[in-house]
Amino acid sequence: MPPTNMSNEEVPPPLPEKKRRIAVLTSGGDAPGMNGAVRAVVRMAIAKGCEAFFVHEGYEGLVNGGDMIKQADWEDVRGFLPEGGTLIGSARCMSFRERWGRLSAAKNMVLNGIDALIVCGGDGSLTGADLFRKEWPGLLEELVGKGELTTEQITPFKSLNIVGLVGSIDNDMSATDATIGCYSSLHRICGCVDSINDTAQSHQRAFIVEVMGRHCGWLALMSAISTGADFLFIPESPPSRDWRIDMSTIITKHRKMGKRTTLVIIAEGAIDQDLKKVTPGEIKDLLSNELKLDTRVTTLGHIQRGGAPCAYDRLLSTLQGAEAVNAVLEAKEGTPSPVISVIENKIVRQPLMEAVRLTQLVPAAIEHKDFARAMELRDAEFSEYFNAYRITGAAELPELLLPENKRMRIGIIHVGAPAGGMNAASRAAIAYCFSRGHTPVALYNGFSGLIRHHSDKPQGSVRDISWLEADSWVSKGGSEIGTNRTLPSENMAEVSLAFERYNIQALFCIGGFEAFHAVSELRKARKEFPPVSIPIVVLPATVSNNVPGTEYSLGSDTCLNALIEYCDTCRQSASASRRRVFVIETQGGESGYVAVIAGISVGALAVYTPEEGINIKMLDSDIDALRETFKRDRGQNRAGKIILRNEKASSVYTTQVIADILSVEGKTREGKVQFEARVGIPGHFQQGKEPSPMDRVRAVRFAVRSLQHLESFAGWSREEIANDPTTVSVIGIRGAKVQFSAMETVENEETDWKHRRPKAEYWRGLTGLGDILAGRPRRTAPDDQEIGILPI
Ligand code: ADP
Repeated sequence: MPPTNMSNEEVPPPLPEKKRRIAVLTSGGDAPGMNGAVRAVVRMAIAKGCEAFFVHEGYEGLVNGGDMIKQADWEDVRGFLPEGGTLIGSARCMSFRERWGRLSAAKNMVLNGIDALIVCGGDGSLTGADLFRKEWPGLLEELVGKGELTTEQITPFKSLNIVGLVGSIDNDMSATDATIGCYSSLHRICGCVDSINDTAQSHQRAFIVEVMGRHCGWLALMSAISTGADFLFIPESPPSRDWRIDMSTIITKHRKMGKRTTLVIIAEGAIDQDLKKVTPGEIKDLLSNELKLDTRVTTLGHIQRGGAPCAYDRLLSTLQGAEAVNAVLEAKEGTPSPVISVIENKIVRQPLMEAVRLTQLVPAAIEHKDFARAMELRDAEFSEYFNAYRITGAAELPELLLPENKRMRIGIIHVGAPAGGMNAASRAAIAYCFSRGHTPVALYNGFSGLIRHHSDKPQGSVRDISWLEADSWVSKGGSEIGTNRTLPSENMAEVSLAFERYNIQALFCIGGFEAFHAVSELRKARKEFPPVSIPIVVLPATVSNNVPGTEYSLGSDTCLNALIEYCDTCRQSASASRRRVFVIETQGGESGYVAVIAGISVGALAVYTPEEGINIKMLDSDIDALRETFKRDRGQNRAGKIILRNEKASSVYTTQVIADILSVEGKTREGKVQFEARVGIPGHFQQGKEPSPMDRVRAVRFAVRSLQHLESFAGWSREEIANDPTTVSVIGIRGAKVQFSAMETVENEETDWKHRRPKAEYWRGLTGLGDILAGRPRRTAPDDQEIGILPI
């Protein structure tokens, strides 16, 4: 029924030129991280001199108007970042599917003076948004025609700006590598499956775990990779017609190799090649009756939707929310609506309808049994992950075996401090070797192990390793083969002898800045010590994320998750006492990455980094800002405030000194406490316990790529190897690409050796954004004059 109570009402006067009234709504299924997006939109809009509006309950609020559309203030989104679900509500709204619903929505937009809409939802929500924009001029004309609005009233609202943000736990949208919410959901699944694995191990059981995903197998695929599942069912790539035989063969093989558990992951929408639904029940019957395994089924259900957003979702939603506001302000009439997406590590804008069109082609391709096309239509990462899963699953894939003369003995070594994902990368490398016919050789205890290889127990430091031994490493933190900071230069002659003695023909080196340094030393030693003239790849793995040649190191995501958990807990502990600020010291060496990204993810009031240093003016303005915050806080936000200080940000202003200064400054002359300060030093807690799912899956992907790179040099002579700079490389993410960079170039041109970090750190550009969204006063002249000093 069309609403009948429309009447001519006041339309607010237009804002000054280039300022907009921007509304944000969340629609469709909720997803962790949506609140971060809403917070970023609201604060970025206000920071840019615009007005922000909440639309409550998705399109329902737009259609109904009234109190469901409310102006949003800076303070209204305080505390949004760590919350799961969506605090402004979401709904499936049938009336927005009808023209009369959209007509009502258009009137409500105009009555609130709003001409820009940022929608966070799935492909349905974004389709609705785009349709709304297309119909906009017609809707306004109709409203005038019906006498609901006047021509003068609609004149300032010629066009409607729509920007899409993809919020969905399924990660089912083409044109983006990740949707807001998918990694949080993966966290939940992996946590559950890790627990299930423990009990399976005790009883030698088989478990079939069903995860969400009607048309999209992303969650199933990623959880299978993260937990080392024996078999996987996803809708985009159904198993062969003989899947019962294939599955039985693989599971029997794994059991014969000594595996005590069996894990099958099945997506909700799993089908066979004839589009017949595959159910957990029929898999259970097969495993119980034919393989005689004690088998249980677990359907995870809505647990996958809820919970606090993980670090990545907080960062992604914040960056994308801010970018959506930029997109609104830069929109030109006639340009297609954008959707904000992420490709590897780069936030980009893509045409919204094209992304929706490609997404909707996937179920169509599946329906036509064109599975190759369905895989192709997912983002590029998807097929790569799928292949990595297959290759590292110890399945019978004789076609993957290389001819004898292409097989190598590949050394695997860890260097530096432990980091989440090191074991998962080694496990994947070992499994890859078995699939291809290479021999994996574990080099225990880093270069000190190699240097001592002549000791009485040579088997202790260099050892061939079995698939089974490595299989359980997928979810383990720390370093199973041992790691330390020794560099090969401590005794290059012994290292070279060890390479020769054990016939190491390629080296896969996993670790942080020391690993990078070690590989640089090996590269330089190639002339003097010919046995080290072998292809080498270094896979960066360190909580500090300070390795040149990449924007992401394994372990850094695990660290961020541990750190935000610590910060959230500190912040909550202040809810009883209130008016408390925590000065938390982060790791990171001379790189402020961890502090800055964690700062954005928890909404820290200030972040101190070694790159920027700390000075008295900075402290002074941050203290003023704190006073202002607490003065304005009338108790609506009970949680404490967070300041993050990197361990090397200043030799004078230590974490304790800053907390002491804050405590003194937090008192009035009369001794009244305005706020108090506490120190928090999470230390090694930041290494995390289990590696995060992102570190696990990227470990597998990068390990497979690294080994493919190494094997491409099989059969090369030492001279050929020494003459080609790409034979010694760093694998890493650079912007929108994963690539190998020649060590020689990276070490000579891109490395700040003194500070042990890259010369250009990509995240430096994000410090300003963190400050803006936390309302921190600008310490230097703003690049963007419009931003200025913001309310706290
Ligand atoms: P998701 O956004 O998660 O894909 P839905 O497909 O349920 O979820 O869409 C959410 C809401 O978006 C719907 O309830 C409806 O209000 C709106 N919507 C979806 N598709 C359309 C459409 N084709 N036209 C107009 N509105 C739509």
